[in-house]
Amino acid sequence: MSQTIDVKTHQLLIAGKQVDAASGETFDALNPATGSVIARVAKGGTEDIDRAVDAARKAFDEGPWPKLNPYERGRVLQRIADRVRERADELANLESLNTGKPIARAKGEILGAASIYEYYAGAADKFYGETLPLGGNVVNTTWREPVGVCGQIVPWNFPFSMATWKVAPALAAGCAMILKPASNTPLTALLLGEICYEAGVPEGIISVIPGPGGEIGEYMAAHPLIDKIAFTGETATGTRILKASADTIKKVSLELGGKSPNIVFADADLEKAASAAVPAAFGNSGQVCTARTRLFVGKQAYDDVMNILVDQTEQFKVGDPQQDGTLMGPVISESQWERVSSYVDIGRDEGAELVYGGVRPSAMKDGYFIQPTIFGQVSNDMRIAREEIFGPVLSVIPFEDEDDIVRQANANDYGLAGSVWTRDINKAMRVARGLRTGMVAINSNGGPGVFGPFGGYKKSGLGRELSMHGMELYTEVKNIYMDLND
Ligand code: NDP
Repeated sequence: MSQTIDVKTHQLLIAGKQVDAASGETFDALNPATGSVIARVAKGGTEDIDRAVDAARKAFDEGPWPKLNPYERGRVLQRIADRVRERADELANLESLNTGKPIARAKGEILGAASIYEYYAGAADKFYGETLPLGGNVVNTTWREPVGVCGQIVPWNFPFSMATWKVAPALAAGCAMILKPASNTPLTALLLGEICYEAGVPEGIISVIPGPGGEIGEYMAAHPLIDKIAFTGETATGTRILKASADTIKKVSLELGGKSPNIVFADADLEKAASAAVPAAFGNSGQVCTARTRLFVGKQAYDDVMNILVDQTEQFKVGDPQQDGTLMGPVISESQWERVSSYVDIGRDEGAELVYGGVRPSAMKDGYFIQPTIFGQVSNDMRIAREEIFGPVLSVIPFEDEDDIVRQANANDYGLAGSVWTRDINKAMRVARGLRTGMVAINSNGGPGVFGPFGGYKKSGLGRELSMHGMELYTEVKNIYMDLND
């Protein structure tokens, strides 16, 4: 963790120009692996949001971008993808330094984001309306038009990816946007804004404004000149955004929390299921909305699964994010460390069995490190099984049978994702259909990436990002009825 950092000051990016915040204030960006300052960042306020919204309105209402042949917008997106690939090492290094995620993982996320720009480069001219067969001398057609000026508020767990999930389809659809990164992780979003302009996005189409979410995020949600808000983060924040946006009847899409069940039946390939449960719970230090944090294990297989789980967790190397071979870095901040540790105490107090971890690794004296933590004999109504901890804490819950498991898995406010492991494909499909979640994986914890819809039921959100569903979030449907009779 010895990388020497030249602490630079980063300005806001408003309509393609780097500018100071109107207040002149800045805040520090930290490296969570050391707690040290790695950059100073202009602290955007409401006046800066107004400047960005004015520029976005002008670019959208009067500029060429929304009217451009979508194929041409696709070419700009392809250039963004190319530049992201060219600068992948720089972006990955910055992402790893600012989030504490292992460097290899950060690189994978940056390259994954490049693929998302490529996907939407191709999608731009392939998302269109339809002609309705009404008969007679009438033409009736629906159009997909860009939704307008978008406010995009993203979290700190996947800063570049989450920005990309929103920026790429919005650009493809012809929207203008103001991107607000999380205050913990503003750096790669600012670089993304620069890349967009280098690739040929017209002035005003994107602005990047770091600043306190409670102030400028909520201001964006209520702003009368913003047409749509796209948000990823905590469910409680999503509620505030919905309330703040209500008076202006904005289009709102929300990707919120999760407490995803990972269901392992006794007839599953236990080695595979239990080994895969480890990265599914502890990858990115557990700071993943789809993290499989409730591991339900068929009673007959409980001891076998727990043995494999502990063995694999011991090998899940916690350490310096910049070093090859590290699988887990710190959590994002001191407050997140406190939050995760408090849940370890809660689990103990609730009577769960602390099987592994729960404390700071002895070798990691600085930074916000916590060991991957396994609680056994958890019951589904304990707080550690109900609430999103957003840290490396796994609750292992024994279950009886198929009916029992569907009921337990669904007995939660969230409904983002889930997994089912069994050799009986009929049972797998019955359980997958029974789960009230937006995404289910069978004999896997993976998903289709950009090619499939991402989002949740219940308190896990509104709308679906990625795939062609992502284009729907950034378009309005217009119907034109044309009477051709004399
Ligand atoms: P938040 O939901 O508070 O933050 C996400 C984004 O929203 C950030 O850009 C934040 O800005 C902004 N924001 C904060 N308050 C408001 C508001 N009132 N109106 C509009 N925007 C706002 O999550 P936290 O960063 O505070 O993390 C807390 C918890 O949220 C985590 O422990 C985890 O449980 C959950 N979380 C879930 C995520 C998911 O993907 N499901 C992602 C991140 C967090 P700023 O950074 O300036 O506060």
